[in-house]
Amino acid sequence: MPSLLFRGLSHTATASFLLLLSACSEAPAQSLASVPATPSDSQASLSVTAAASARLSFEEWRSLLRSDAIAAGIDPELFDRAFAGISPNPEVLAADSSQPEFTRPVWEYLDGAVSPSRIARGRLLLDQHRASLERIEQRYAVDGEVLVAIWGLESNFGSNIGNHSVIRSLATLAFEGRRQAFWRSQLLAVLQILQHGDISPERLLGSWAGAMGQTQFMPTTYNQHAVDFDGDGRRDLWSSAPDALASAAHYLQASGWQRGQPWGFEVRLPRGFDYSLADPESRRSLAEWTALGVEPMAAAAPVGAPETTATLLLPAGHRGPAFLVLDNFRSILKYNNSTSYALAIGLLADGLRGGTGVQGAWPRDERQLGRSERIELQELLARNGLQPGPADGIIGANTRKAVRALQLQLNWPADGYPNEELLKQLRGR
Ligand code: CA
Repeated sequence: MPSLLFRGLSHTATASFLLLLSACSEAPAQSLASVPATPSDSQASLSVTAAASARLSFEEWRSLLRSDAIAAGIDPELFDRAFAGISPNPEVLAADSSQPEFTRPVWEYLDGAVSPSRIARGRLLLDQHRASLERIEQRYAVDGEVLVAIWGLESNFGSNIGNHSVIRSLATLAFEGRRQAFWRSQLLAVLQILQHGDISPERLLGSWAGAMGQTQFMPTTYNQHAVDFDGDGRRDLWSSAPDALASAAHYLQASGWQRGQPWGFEVRLPRGFDYSLADPESRRSLAEWTALGVEPMAAAAPVGAPETTATLLLPAGHRGPAFLVLDNFRSILKYNNSTSYALAIGLLADGLRGGTGVQGAWPRDERQLGRSERIELQELLARNGLQPGPADGIIGANTRKAVRALQLQLNWPADGYPNEELLKQLRGR
């Protein structure tokens, strides 16, 4: 999956989807991997697969799932309690298949994500939880500011953890959503969380897509990374801030976070800069970037050692601010595979440390291409032999490459960022 997808939607609308994307890239149902497969497991799985095509009723489907869950070690009484009164939720299905035409530009997303009020609240909480955060830093080697930033964006510091029944959402998606096998593994993982005693079925609330608690973990992520840090014996990401912060730290540690290293920093580019270098595949050492005339925007920026490698990020194309992003930025992308999200986390963490925010101006006058225009752009790029990949409206690595190739043909700044001008140019061919 390309890491440089720009999803300028409001965070609350996309958080679970983005988490879902990051969850997808993991090995499925890691928690169930510890349960040896039995003949009844595979038989039940086969019958469920057949069930989908045979259009079983929800009750018939649930009964097959129950057999599978019991074979995987779930207590039958617990299963029945969790599924009491559960029926498919049409709103969840609608959300699963929704493909919005318009997305918010990255600067509008950042205005909300890294607002002065969120920074102020984050600073208060950083102070309030300093003792826990110091112990968490000692155990997991992840900086407290980035944890508080994740907490702030995932659930507005624990105040917005979703009010959907996770069992109902996951059952709906596993029964009749897209990618039923993925949702089924999430559903079995959430049953294991219940079985583990971390939470009661009645309190098991989350986003429409099953992201849970103050860190909005998907169930398989929860089973792999959630920790009991306050020592009450339960991994409670719903009501324990220390558990939530430590679990985020555990996840970031597993994603390669390096304590004390910057995520990245804003830079100034020299006149006549070759924008085609702003590509996730173009990794260079800080010494090389310096030799190319790239300079930190703030003289005092913590930039890292000269041999540290970084890529150049232009979140809004060559007309907007530029950033060099380091390995820790990639760790945040493993948490949530959205460049806008990772940038917001980095900038919010900087804000908590007293940083001054983005200095460069965003091109706020530039209109974003809608989904149908992005599809048209991809179709026209393909017609011109530029191979942008499938016309799905998602500007991924292949589309960026195709856009860049066209920009080079036109002798335009080759930032790989498609805009209205470029679409007009293609329409005129
Ligand atoms: Ca706990």
